[in-house]
This record gives sequence, C-alpha cells and structure tokens, in this order.
Amino acid sequence: MSVESSSPDYDVIVIGSGIGGLVTATQLAAKGAQVLVLESYLIPGGSAGYFERSGYRFDVGASMIFGFGKQGTTNLLTRALDAVDMSLDTYPDPVQIHYHLPGDLELKVHRDYEAFIQELSDRFPHERKGIRKFYDECWRVFNCLNAMELLSLEEPRYLMRVFFQHPLACLGLVKYLPQNVGDIARRTIRDPQLLKFIDIECYCWSVVPAELTPMINAGMVFSDRHYGGINYPKGGVGQIAQKLVEGLEKKGSKILYKSRVKQILLKNNKAVGVELVNGKRYMAPRVVSNATRWNTFESLLPSETLPPAEQSWQERYQKSPSFVSLHLGVEASVLPQGTECHHILLEDWDKMETSHGTIFVSIPTLLDPNLAPPGYHIIHTFTPSWIDQWQGLTPKKYEAQKEEIADQIIDRLESIFPGLEAGLDYEEVGTPRTHRRFLNRQDGTYGPIPKRKLLGLLGMPFNRTSIPGLYCVGDSTFPGQGLNAVAFSGFACAHRIAVDLGL
Ligand SMILES: Cc1cc2nc3c(=O)[nH]c(=O)nc-3n(C[C@H](O)[C@H](O)[C@H](O)COP(=O)(O)OP(=O)(O)OC[C@H]3O[C@@H](n4cnc5c(N)ncnc54)[C@H](O)[C@@H]3O)c2cc1C
Repeated sequence: MSVESSSPDYDVIVIGSGIGGLVTATQLAAKGAQVLVLESYLIPGGSAGYFERSGYRFDVGASMIFGFGKQGTTNLLTRALDAVDMSLDTYPDPVQIHYHLPGDLELKVHRDYEAFIQELSDRFPHERKGIRKFYDECWRVFNCLNAMELLSLEEPRYLMRVFFQHPLACLGLVKYLPQNVGDIARRTIRDPQLLKFIDIECYCWSVVPAELTPMINAGMVFSDRHYGGINYPKGGVGQIAQKLVEGLEKKGSKILYKSRVKQILLKNNKAVGVELVNGKRYMAPRVVSNATRWNTFESLLPSETLPPAEQSWQERYQKSPSFVSLHLGVEASVLPQGTECHHILLEDWDKMETSHGTIFVSIPTLLDPNLAPPGYHIIHTFTPSWIDQWQGLTPKKYEAQKEEIADQIIDRLESIFPGLEAGLDYEEVGTPRTHRRFLNRQDGTYGPIPKRKLLGLLGMPFNRTSIPGLYCVGDSTFPGQGLNAVAFSGFACAHRIAVDLGL
C-alpha cells in the first residue's frame, strides 16, 4: 500500500523479535536510535523462544548454542548482550553431538579438538592425515573470521578499514567465500563412509549435504565448537531473547507483543512504516523485516511487485523442510549413565535427507536440571518434514498422523534410550503447521537452502533490499541459519542502518 503523508514515530521499526531482529534493535538502541520492535507472538525469540507445560520449560527450537565464547570476535551472542549491558550465565557442553550412524558408527564430537580428531581417526585410521587436513582447513577459515570485527559487508569504509587492519585474514575469506565443503573434503578424504560423515556434519545445521554447504559456515561451526564451545543458557534458550529485550528497553526503545504486521507501507516505492492487522500504523524512515524473505516479499508487500533481485534469489534458493517436533518429559531413569545432551540418529545413509530420516535429540536438563520437575528430564526431538504431508487433512486424520509419526520416532529412539516409551510423563507433538502458525514462517521452513550447487555463500543476500528504506535480517540473509549466524546478520544490519541514519 502507498501512503500519502508520513511523520515518523521512530527511527527504525523492526518486524519480529527473533534473535536477528533483536540484535539489530539492540545494536541500534545502543547507538541512540529510537527503535520499535513489533512481535506477533506473546513473547520474544521466535525459533529461539520457549513454552511451559506441566512444570517443564521447553525450547521451541534451537538448543545447541554457539556464540557464547569469551574471546575472539565470533562470540556474537555474548557481544550482543554486552552492548546493552546484559549477560547470561551458561553451562559448557563437553560434547557437541553424540552421533549414532549407520554401520554402528558411534562418535562423539568432543569440545576438545584433539579428543575429537583422535576419536574420528581411530574409526578411520587409514584417513588419519586427511581428517586432520580437512578440519585444520576449517580452522583457517575460522581464524580469519575470528580476527576481525564482524559487521556489514555492504559498508565500503568498514571493508577498507578491515582490509588494512587484517589483509591476510581478508584474502583468506575471499578465497573461501565461493567454496563449498564437499569439494574441500574430497581433496583430502577418500573413504566413502567418512565422506558421508562429513555430509551429516553439515546436514545437521545446514540441512543440505557437504556438496551444497558453504565453507564459510562450516569453518565457523566446525571450529567454534572447540573454541568458544557450545554453551547452554541458564534458565533455557528463551533467556537470550528475554535479556536482549530487557537491554533494549533499558536503552529507551520499545517492543510490542501481539502486534502482527499486515503490511509494509510504501511512499514513492520507499518503505516508510507498517500497518498492523488491527489497522494501527507506525511510521519510521527505516523498516527491518525479521520475517523470512518469502513472508516479507510475498505477504508483507504486494507479491505481484516482486523485485527482480528477489526473483533471482528465489531461482537460486528454496525453502528447506520444516520439522516434526516432540517435546517430551521423561523419567530420569530413561537416560543411561553418561548420556550426552545432543544426539543425532540415522539408520540408513540413503535416508539422511528424506522426510523423517534424520532424528535430532536435545536433552537440556542434563545441563540445566531446573527446566524440569525433580526426577524428570526434557527430551526435545525433531526430524525434518515437509508441509505438503500435513495439508488438506481432516482434524481427525491430522491427529492420527501426528500420533503415528510420534510413535515411530519414539520407537526408533528406544535404540539409544531403552524404556523411553514406558518412562514418558509428558508429550506434545508439533508439525510444520505448528511451526508455520507460531513462528510465522512460510510453510514452517527452517530457512533457505540452495536449489543447486552454488558458489559458496556468494549468492546469499545481505541486509539492504531493492526497496529503499527496507532491510531484511535473520536466517534468509547472509550468513544463514543458526542463532550465532542470525546474530551476525543483526550486527551487519544495524551497522548498515546506523551508517544510513548517520548515527
Ligand atoms: C527445531 C529447530 C531446531 C533448531 N536448532 C538450532 C540449534 O540447536 N542451534 C542454532 O543455533 N539454531 C538452531 N535452529 C535455527 C535457529 O533457531 C534459527 O536459525 C534462528 O532462531 C532464526 O532467527 P531469526 O532471527 O531469523 O527469526 P525467527 O526465529 O524466525 O523469528 C522471527 C520472528 O518474527 C516474528 N514475525 C514474523 N512475521 C511477523 C509479522 N508479520 N508481524 C510481527 N511479527 C512477525 C515471528 O513471530 C518471530 O518471532 C533451530 C531451528 C529449529 C526450528
């Protein structure tokens, strides 16, 4: 919709309080901007939110948290909180993932790099050298990133400054930016089963195999898990968003809940404000969308005017699947002694990418027991699923399908947690429809994935859009999915806007 007159109420409006939106908002508030965040749900956080049932506090999605390191520059959650005078206590996780893979391949990714390399090399002794070479190459990418302040690549003066301060690191990144993990892994590794392992190492956060996973993201994930480590926030993942909001408000900016944006208002094709579903309007010279790019350009703006840049992005990227999620409360006796917090279960390599193929498990109460009643644990388990399978069902069929898939998942998990079914105290099942409804994500998607092999991260858009005054932030912008990644996107977005506003 085009508007006639507009007098700004705020410097910046952010649509959505996911971690990407909140980092943008808090960074700008810390620089003195007046920011309004509009969130359609009751609490902040989006995919990093939480909900409470029967004495359990469940994470909605994310629970393997990067970005809480104490040193370097890639600890973006620590830095984002610090910028608004906030901090969070966290529990270090000694093992990132315990893999249960085909061919009895049982492996733990230890926080200690050497312990991980040793364990993997013991399983593939003939590939000892190749393993070391591959993961060391990931460190080279990480060390480049971790040497420099991570801000907007759309800001030429920053690029110049960072280049003169860290020329070698910048050249290193330029080299890896167009590369994917698969090509690099195959240069040093031959064993097909080990290459499959590298595939699932990528798939578990990029939801595509190594061939399609950008090397820059892999450099971050495969190294930071041993550097800053995986750290679980005390009180649950929802605390991250809660603390960011507290900091935002202390800096004089504002968040409104139950405030669903219906459309972005344009004047002379420039974004000037937003209109909520209740008809209320808010004006600002800069509007940031933390919704997915599909929601932003197909729902919040007239879809018939999809800018050519977005059309070409949609030709390169597609929506990843959503998930079926089980939020379980279980008797503590279900978990064998020494159980790790995060697990991945796959019985057949050919099913890694299929619907309900790979199962992810997270047991946050092993790190923070206060999230469940005494004597009980939380098991959050989820598996990729496409929305098509859940559409057009009668309510009865929908419930029956939920129960069927949930039973299958529990049955498969009995292989690592014998007695799981008997020890169930609470069960809630979410589907791609749940993700779509509560997270406001088209088709409940986890985010964009390449349609075909692309040149690493070169095809991912930054924060500015073809519409002046409108920016995007979050997992459909550079560098992609994950809390630390969307925090990066938030730092970059706020930096670019601050320069545009002259802050
Ligand atoms: C099951 C699952 C497990 C995951 N596990 C991990 C993990 O272990 N580690 C990790 O790092 N990452 C994980 N992720 C990914 C991570 O959670 C996401 O990449 C990240 O949280 C996305 O953040 P975002 O800022 O892009 O937006 P989102 O989290 O999608 O938030 C967007 C917000 O905008 C709001 N919104 C949208 N449209 C409107 C509108 N029109 N009006 C008002 N508000 C609106 C939404 O309600 C939402 O609150 C997981 C995700 C899922 C789903």
